Amino acid sequence: MIRFSNVTKVYGKDTVALERLNLEIDAGEFVFLVGASGSGKSTMVRLMLKEMEPSAGAIFVNGTRLSSVPRRRIPRLRRDIGCVFQDFKLLPNKTAAENVAYAMEVTGQRRRVIRTKVPQILDLVGLSGKMDKFPEMLSGGEQQRVSIARAFVSQPPILVADEPTGNLDPNTSVGIMQLLHRINRTGTTVVVATHDREMVDVMRKRVVALEEGRIVRDKVKGAYADEV
Ligand code: ADP
Ligand code: ADP
Repeated sequence: MIRFSNVTKVYGKDTVALERLNLEIDAGEFVFLVGASGSGKSTMVRLMLKEMEPSAGAIFVNGTRLSSVPRRRIPRLRRDIGCVFQDFKLLPNKTAAENVAYAMEVTGQRRRVIRTKVPQILDLVGLSGKMDKFPEMLSGGEQQRVSIARAFVSQPPILVADEPTGNLDPNTSVGIMQLLHRINRTGTTVVVATHDREMVDVMRKRVVALEEGRIVRDKVKGAYADEV
């Protein structure tokens, strides 16, 4: 479903963010990318989203080699890979429902589909009572739920989250992780970059650990740190 093949990413002249990285993620997996700040997690996420190109090597998403996707086809690509960020990135002048609807509009979905889907998905994330609230009237956890609803509303085969609980308190974070877990159970491949140790240890999913741009550990039902 996602494959990094010998991927190197160098920023500027000599900041090596990833070094000859190989990783394969199968359809339906739930994977945590963990590691200290600066270890390369965000770089991996940005490469998967084709926000930038690797310096060497290739990335495949859903069988497609990203470097072969022309710029005009990127919006299409983004339909296959929903993304969630630490800072939610909601439009402040749109309600929860409008934020989700807008994401569907820009990918060219039909009005009728949008009208039925938006309430369904907001219900799924536990926000059916807050559809008409603007982001500033919602808690951090609720805003993150809106952003997950927006990422998942077209049921992409892949959902990628970069520090989704980074701005949330521990209790709220548990709810967000449970939601991602539920999405994963529908068959969606979920990749979460995080340094939320507690969360990773509770969830017992595959853990891929990065250190200075290299994978130092890859473990099924893993923990944040090595266990003795
Ligand atoms: P993480 O997400 O694990 O904190 P990053 O992928 O953000 O790690 O960063 C990996 C390395 O690349 C770090 O040394 C960071 O300073 C560097 N880096 C990240 N983005 C840029 C950028 N846009 N320009 C230059 N260096 C960058
Ligand atoms: P994260 O929260 O994933 O650790 P950072 O705080 O490292 O992210 O980076 C935030 C933003 O700054 C990202 O867009 C990243 O690409 C960029 N960035 C990170 N390190 C550098 C750097 N050394 N030089 C320029 N931009 C950077």
